[in-house]
Amino acid sequence: MSKCKFCESSDLSFFQAKERMFGLGGNFSYAECIFCGSLQLDSIPADLSSYYPADYYSFAELKKSNPIARFLKKFRMRVFLRFGIKWLSPEYGYWLVKLQPGFSDRIADVGCGNGQLLYELHAGGFTDLQGFDPFIAEDTQIAPGLYLWKKRIEESEVSFDWIMMHHSFEHMEDPNGVLKSCYEKLKPGGKLLIRCPVADAEVWKESCEFWVQLDAPRHLIIPTLKGFKIKAEQLGFVLDEVAFDSTDFQFWGTELYRRGELLDEGKTTAFLTKDVRSSMQEKALRYNQEGKGDQACFYLRKPIKA
Ligand SMILES: [Zn+2]
Repeated sequence: MSKCKFCESSDLSFFQAKERMFGLGGNFSYAECIFCGSLQLDSIPADLSSYYPADYYSFAELKKSNPIARFLKKFRMRVFLRFGIKWLSPEYGYWLVKLQPGFSDRIADVGCGNGQLLYELHAGGFTDLQGFDPFIAEDTQIAPGLYLWKKRIEESEVSFDWIMMHHSFEHMEDPNGVLKSCYEKLKPGGKLLIRCPVADAEVWKESCEFWVQLDAPRHLIIPTLKGFKIKAEQLGFVLDEVAFDSTDFQFWGTELYRRGELLDEGKTTAFLTKDVRSSMQEKALRYNQEGKGDQACFYLRKPIKA
């Protein structure tokens, strides 16, 4: 019998969802936990590769910066982290600053794809960066101090000051196993950042299987804050903070699916005027403040004394 992968309750309700990003259809059975509200794909296809076609966004090519751009990025990063000047923040600065990073910290990105984010951190002055992704072509050294490994972090021999996952956690089958390996690979006092969709989303409650970040069948698990906290604390983590960071994508993406369209931002011109778009952006900010957004950042810590 299936159990919730977060709180282990076997009180589940089931619903069906289709693949909508590329219009591949199908009928995928998801379970919603009655106790904690987390979602999981109930029976996972043996081979999911056909649901990740070549134009899937994580297969994009890495874009490198020229030496002048790298110099400016390094300067900007130092000033931003030192003085917290908001307009100097890179687009990911809002979570980076909370990790209180040191430039020589050993950092892992799990599910790193082409390594673009690690590359930006390298350009910004970080010197010990490792990406893990079993779906990349091969092990690669991108730059001095920046390696991408075609393997899982479990297979790494080293330990890290911080580990991060940006929208890769929900593609993994076993949250218990993933979080446990992160715990083992972190140094005492080390930090874990997980950014993923969350089933606390108002848009999920309103739109059910049309919710764009349900993303059947690629998203195998989508926790709620409640479910995530139970699992993380069970494994010994301290959950320092949860912050919502969803955008207007939750509204226009979901509206496209409701209209039977594929995920093509160009198609939104049929129903999105500039005014509607900006009201969606304002609504996304409000939802984040009210804890009703459709994705969140979980800031976790491995205690120094377990
Ligand atoms: Zn649950």
